[in-house]
Amino acid sequence: MSFNIAIDGPAGAGKSTIAKQVSAKLGYIYVDTGAMYRAMALFLIREGVSPEDQESVGKRSQDADISIKYENGEQVVLLNGENVNGLIRTEEVGNMASATSVNGDLRKKLVELQQKLAATENVVMDGRDIGTVVLPGAQLKVYLTASVEVRADRRYKELTEKGVDCDLEQIKADIRDRDHRDMTREVSPLKQAEDAVLVDSSDMTIQEVIDRILELAKERS
Ligand code: C5P
Repeated sequence: MSFNIAIDGPAGAGKSTIAKQVSAKLGYIYVDTGAMYRAMALFLIREGVSPEDQESVGKRSQDADISIKYENGEQVVLLNGENVNGLIRTEEVGNMASATSVNGDLRKKLVELQQKLAATENVVMDGRDIGTVVLPGAQLKVYLTASVEVRADRRYKELTEKGVDCDLEQIKADIRDRDHRDMTREVSPLKQAEDAVLVDSSDMTIQEVIDRILELAKERS
């Protein structure tokens, strides 16, 4: 039987950085489920589907073939066979993903794909509903969070270092909006699973968070 680690939490808590390093250390596969919702969002943008038109979102999402493969240990998301890794990290796609991931039919399609992956492989999977819906039987569940201020500061630093002009107050407002949408949606809202371990990374270094999760994984294995 495969060993599954579920990491959930709000945007900007450091899930992907942490999950990537934990999986590399354990020799597990890292599954970034947000990238799948982003690839689906890109498909819907290209198809000209409005996020307000939920019926079309549900219907058209069934036409997208989303799969993942691994190249040099990196997850590559394929949309109808095309590598879209370089196209899904924009604010436009992120906002579309947040707006369309409220759709039950769209979620069902991606959840099935995620469950299939975890059934046969040892995985570290990150997202919003991994411990609650996708892998309720995961051997380890972590709810990784940090304060809005800390998450906004991290994002601001990341963008500034890339030379992107941005406004800290705007970033904070966007984070609050996205948290609100992810936590209050009807289908699979972001919430801590009852048996998840809460890790608040506000005052922790990346290495401290990784060590904590590795220690928890060791205890459970
Ligand atoms: O994690 P990331 O920011 O890449 O995810 C993009 C969006 O996809 C999130 O804002 C969230 O609405 C959605 N998502 C989700 N369920 C997941 C992963 C992501 O609803 N398991």
